This record gives sequence, C-alpha cells and structure tokens, in this order.
Amino acid sequence: MQLLSRGDTGPAVAEVRAALQALGLVEPPASGGPAPEPSRFDGALEDAVRAFQQNRGLITDGVVGSATYRALRDARWSLGDRMLCLQASNTMTGDDVFALQERLLELGYDSGRADGVFGRQTEQALRSFQRDYGMAPDGICGPRTLRHLGYLGRKVTGGRPGLLREQERLHRAGPRLSGKRIVIDPGHGGSNPGVAVGGVTEAGLVADIARRLEGRMSAAGMEALLSHGPQDCPSDAERAGFANTAGADVVLSLHVDANPSPAANGLAAFHFGTGTGATSTVGEALAGFIHRELLARTRMLDCGVHPRPWELLRLTRMPAVRVEIGYLTNEDDRESLLDPAFRDVVAEGILVAVKRLYLLGQNDKPTGTFTFSDILQREEGSPIGA
Ligand SMILES: [Zn+2]
Repeated sequence: MQLLSRGDTGPAVAEVRAALQALGLVEPPASGGPAPEPSRFDGALEDAVRAFQQNRGLITDGVVGSATYRALRDARWSLGDRMLCLQASNTMTGDDVFALQERLLELGYDSGRADGVFGRQTEQALRSFQRDYGMAPDGICGPRTLRHLGYLGRKVTGGRPGLLREQERLHRAGPRLSGKRIVIDPGHGGSNPGVAVGGVTEAGLVADIARRLEGRMSAAGMEALLSHGPQDCPSDAERAGFANTAGADVVLSLHVDANPSPAANGLAAFHFGTGTGATSTVGEALAGFIHRELLARTRMLDCGVHPRPWELLRLTRMPAVRVEIGYLTNEDDRESLLDPAFRDVVAEGILVAVKRLYLLGQNDKPTGTFTFSDILQREEGSPIGA
C-alpha cells in the first residue's frame, strides 16, 4: 500500500482519521478554531498516529504504512462484534481475536501466543473450551460461547483473583469451626429422587446424611444451612445462588452415584476446576480431605478427586465440594449406605475434613483418627465445648 504521511490528502486519510477518532485518539478541534479537513493529513492527525503506534508497540514514526494500517483495521473489532472462526482463506484478525485468545489462555486453554490472528491453535483451544463446558465443539465463537466466556469471566477472570481470595479468607478464618457458615446441599429432593434402586432413593439417603452432618456441625458451633427442603429440587444455579446469598464459607453437595454396571463402586470428590487451567485450590484441598477421611473410615473404593466446571462448583463464590458417596447400583455400597452407623461415619468424616481445612495443617491428627468429641473439645466456647 501507499504510505500516508503529513501533507497527504484523499479518502484513505479520511479513513485513517475515522479509525483514530473511533479510538478516541484524535483531539477534538479547539473551540472557535477552524474545523480540520477530514481528508487532510495534518499535524494533529500525525500526533494521533504516533500515539496509536506507541500504544501498539509499532515503530512510532507518524507514518501510516502497512503494519499501522493493519493494526488500525484490527482495532475496530471488540469481542462480540462478530462471529469468530478459522477461515481457510481470509484469516480473521482483530482485537476481538486477541481478547478471545487472552481469555482462553486465562482459563488454561493453550491458544498459543495471543496474536490477534485466528489460527488453527486458537481453534483447537476454543473447541476444547466448548467441549469442557458442555457446548458443541464447533470452533465457532458465537453468542453462546461468548456467554459462557463472560459467565466464567465473573468467576474466573475476576476469578483468578477470586480463587486467590478464597485462600486469603481461609487463612484469616482461624482454626475454630464455631461461627463458620456451611451450606449442606442434599443433591436431590422433591420430584427428583436421583438414583433409585429397589425403593431406596439417593434423595432419601443424602437427606439423612445431611441431617446427621447438620446436627454435628451445629453442636460444634457452626451455622449449618440446608440448600433446600425435602420437597424441593432447585437447579444447581439456584443452589449456588442460595450459598452466595447466605455468604457461606463452604458448600458441601452430597450425592450417591449409579452405574449400568453393578460392579462400579466407590467414593469420588469434585471441586471447581477446568482440568487444564484455573482451579479452586481451597476447594481442591477440602475435596482431598473429605476424600481421604472417608476412605480411611470406610471400605469404599478410591475413585479419586477431580476438577469439574459444573455449575454448582463454578457459580459458587466460595469453596464448594461435591461428593459421590458410593454407588446405589452396587450391592456392597448399597448395603453400607443402608446402615445408619455407616451414615454416621460419613457425617463425622466430613466434619473432620472441614476442621482439617481450617487447621491449615497445624495440630492435626493422622487421617481417620480425629473424632467428633476431639472436635468438640477443641471448640472452646461452643455450647457443648469442654
Ligand atoms: Zn445425584
């Protein structure tokens, strides 16, 4: 292209001026002074070009060559202005592509260096993101994908700091359970009984465990809130909303699993995380404690601790853990779950795990040996505390 510099005139100059005006870089004419001729490359326009070049890391010469021209074109786009995808010819470039790449990188998806060019690696990262968040992995950044990116933005972009704040809060919280507010979330209820085998329902089992846990937590001076009554089954987003409104310190979601194979059995715990990037470290720690305590106290199989972007974990603004306590479709697990003593053990194990989280490794006891009465003894000033 032809270079444009001070003194030039023509429609190309007017186009450059319009672009810089849209970016707020062209000074408005001094009041009373003569209005500038739009198609004339004057001193004010040259200053604006320099400012733009400096801003973008281009050579600051006040001359519009091909690099500056391209950068001006790219700057017109902000994320959401248009659909973005990989195009074989006519590769998409722009500040919107740059913003998308930055967002993907922040979320832990390797879109390569953020360069504002929608290439193959950007497409692959976008597809992975879409897959992880339950969308059709079409590699097209349209309204739905943008909504998810924005959605997540609140938890993760504001969220990396958010996840760090979780840690700060934990460290400031102190070791005592007394005064801490816990939301216990029985996974099902009302018209949604969850897994049902031979008249035994997941909703009934987790409601029972929730009550046992609630009783112990209250005795330890904690404020335990149930996310819903036995007649309701709110959506995960509503459960998360309840915990956020309550200003809970921790959310514990209780479930029992099922599998077409009766052989499948065991215990799994889940915390917020994308698997490739952002993770709630406090959630991960709590999930780990719960998992280890329950494994040490029961004979359940170790099915691991996993990061998941599920809504309850993602939309809550505090550490949240979901536990799948055995398989109702497995005979041994079912037999355990039907035993009230087993459900007591589970409740005690979860309470001890929460205590461990707040102990931050101090005055701790080996996994599986901490008892409910140990905890009550340590809660000086709690109603039953010794
Ligand atoms: Zn469930």
